[in-house]
Amino acid sequence: MKFELAPLPYAYDALEPHIDARTMEIHHSKHHAAYTNNLNVALENSPLAGKSIEEVMVQGFETPAIRNNGGGFYNHNLFWDIMTPGGATAPEGDLAAAINEAFGSFENFKDAFAKAATTRFGSGWAWLCVHKGGKVEVCSTANQDNPLMPGTCGGFPVLGIDVWEHAYYLHYQNRRPDYINAFFNVINWTKVSERYNANR
Ligand code: MN
Repeated sequence: MKFELAPLPYAYDALEPHIDARTMEIHHSKHHAAYTNNLNVALENSPLAGKSIEEVMVQGFETPAIRNNGGGFYNHNLFWDIMTPGGATAPEGDLAAAINEAFGSFENFKDAFAKAATTRFGSGWAWLCVHKGGKVEVCSTANQDNPLMPGTCGGFPVLGIDVWEHAYYLHYQNRRPDYINAFFNVINWTKVSERYNANR
């Protein structure tokens, strides 16, 4: 069984003006598609073929083609899922309480998340993770690594932002901080809360 590129849960232009349609189209139909195809190639004749993407990423971590493309496949599925047009501006419920406990306020969380995303040198991701027991943490990883992989901050990723240049360069050029600020307008806090509640 091969991994498949799922359609976006909204139109390419749905996140305008915060993320432009051309960027979304190339990002999904070219970049995410390539990670998916290359992961399937890397898994041909591999004992990991047929396992879940989580098992593939962790157990195949030592093989660069599986680590990079498995992470790329998983991370972009997460990324599309935790964005939406017209979502809430802040989380509610238990996730909101966990964020307040860890950071003092939602604004402080945004500052910490934006700092992690801004200061990730080169290509990578910034994350909000939940650890068993419900405590949340901000961290970042390089390339297509993610917190489920060995040697990272650990925990389960409930929110992530892609800070590879392909995620923002067409519209924002070198202004990564502007892209990060805009991202806060398209977060699907309902989905982020679901990920938090299911993995704490
Ligand atoms: Mn990307």
